[in-house]
Amino acid sequence: PPAGPDGPIRMRASDLSTISARERAQLLRRPVLKSGEMIEKVEPIVSEIRARGDAALLEFTAKFDKARLSSTCIFSPFSPDTMQIDPDVKAAIDQAYANIRKFHEAQSSGSHLVVETMPGVVCSRFARPIPRVGLYVPGGTAVLPSTALMLGIPAQVAGCKEIVLATPPRADGSISPEVMYVASLVGASTVLKAGGAQAVAALAYGTDTVPKVDKIFGPGNQWVTAAKMLVQNDTDALVSIDMPAGPSEVLVIADYTANAAFVAADLLSQAEHGVDSQVVLVAVDLTEKHLSHIEREVDSQARALSRVDIVRQSIGKSIIVRASSVEEALVFSNDYAPEHLILHLENAASRVDLVENAGSVFVGSYSPESCGDYASGTNHTLPTNGYARQFSGVNTLSFQKHITSQEVSSAGLKVLGPIVATLADCEGLQAHANAVRIRLSA
Ligand code: NAD
Repeated sequence: PPAGPDGPIRMRASDLSTISARERAQLLRRPVLKSGEMIEKVEPIVSEIRARGDAALLEFTAKFDKARLSSTCIFSPFSPDTMQIDPDVKAAIDQAYANIRKFHEAQSSGSHLVVETMPGVVCSRFARPIPRVGLYVPGGTAVLPSTALMLGIPAQVAGCKEIVLATPPRADGSISPEVMYVASLVGASTVLKAGGAQAVAALAYGTDTVPKVDKIFGPGNQWVTAAKMLVQNDTDALVSIDMPAGPSEVLVIADYTANAAFVAADLLSQAEHGVDSQVVLVAVDLTEKHLSHIEREVDSQARALSRVDIVRQSIGKSIIVRASSVEEALVFSNDYAPEHLILHLENAASRVDLVENAGSVFVGSYSPESCGDYASGTNHTLPTNGYARQFSGVNTLSFQKHITSQEVSSAGLKVLGPIVATLADCEGLQAHANAVRIRLSA
C-alpha cells in the first residue's frame, strides 16, 4: 500500500530471476478496465443526444461542465479574439506544428502501389482521406493544445475534408485560446463546445448544428472511452474509432550507464499524469548503490513537484523489475507492450531491433518522453493497456483508407479467366463463372 503522507515516495521492487511465473504475469497486468459497467452508464447520455440533439447537448454541458451556452459550436473562420495567446507559447506551438507536420507528411509517401501479378493483370492500391473526422481534445482542468496538434495535423495532412474538434468548454463558456489557435492551424471547420459521452454521441450521430463524422479520435476519461466503444458498435452510427484507450504508461530500461537523475525525471513525468498512471523501471544488472541512487532521486524530485499528491499515489503503485541482461529486459518489455518505452542503455540505438511491442520508443539518455509528448514530430496518441501488441499509434494512415483496383486486359483474362472459372465452379457459383466465360468466348 502507498506510504503515509510524509513517508518515502518509492516503487516496489522484484527480481525476474527469482519470481514465479504467476508473479511475473501479475507484474505484466494493468488495472481492470470496467468497460461493461461504464458502457451501461453512458448509454442513457448517448440515447438522449440521439433523441433530442442540441437541446440535450446544451443541458449536459450545463450539468457536467457548469457552462450555460447558447450555441453548441464555433464555426470557422474563428475570430482572432478567441485565439489571443502568449507570443512564446505561439512560437512553441508553431515549431511543434512544423516538426509534427514534417514527420506526418513523410508517412504518406509510397502509399500508391501498382503491381502486375500476371501479364495483363494489374492490381493497384491507393489512399483516400476519411471525409469527416471528429477529434476529441480532453478538457477538465488541463489545457491540451498538444493533443489538438497530435490529432489535427495527421487529419490535415491526410486531406480530411471536414475536421470537427470537440472539447469541453470552461465554466464561462469559452474554449482555451491555445486550443482555438491549434484548431485554426490544422484547418478545423468546427469546434464543438462539449465534452464527455455527449460530445462523442453528437459527433457519431450529428445534431441540427453538429456535423456527423465518420471516425472519432482522441484520448479522454472513462466516459469518453466508453462512449467511443458504444457508438462504434452501433451500425446506425456508421462510425469507427482510433483505438481503445486506458491510463497512460511508461516502461524505462536502465543499465549501468544510466544517469539516475534523468531516469527518475522520466519516471515522474509519467507518474504526474494521474493516480492511475502505470510506471515501470526495468533495472539491468544495476548495483544496489546505483538503484538506491535512482530511488533517492525519485523521492527528492517528487517532493518538489506541484502534483506531489498524485505522484505519491502513482509511484506507490509502480514497480522496479530487476533483470540480468538487456535481452531479458526486452523480453519482459515486449510482454508488457508499453505505450512509451525509454532506453537508458549503452548503445541504445543498437537495441531498438529487439523491440517487438511498444507505442513509441525514446532512444538514449537525451530523449525524454516529453519530447514526443509535445514537439519532436512523433505522435503522442498511442496504444495503452497492452494494445501496443496489435495497434499502432495515431498516424497519417489512421485518417485514410486504402482502395484497391484492378485492370485486366483481354490478353490477361485469357490467362486468369480459366483459373477464376475453375474456382467459381468449385464453389458452385455459376454466375461468377459465366461472367468470365462469356468474355472468353466473345
Ligand atoms: P475529459 O475531457 O476526458 O472529460 C471531461 C468530461 O467528462 C466532461 O465534459 C463531462 O462531460 C464528462 N464527465 C465527467 N464526470 C462525469 C459524470 N459523473 N457523468 C457523466 N459525464 C462526466 O477530461 P478529464 O476528465 O480531465 O480527463 C482527461 C483524460 O484524458 C485523462 O484520463 C488523461 O489521462 C487523458 N489524457 C490522455 C492524453 C494522451 O494523449 N494519452 C492526453 C491528455 C489527457
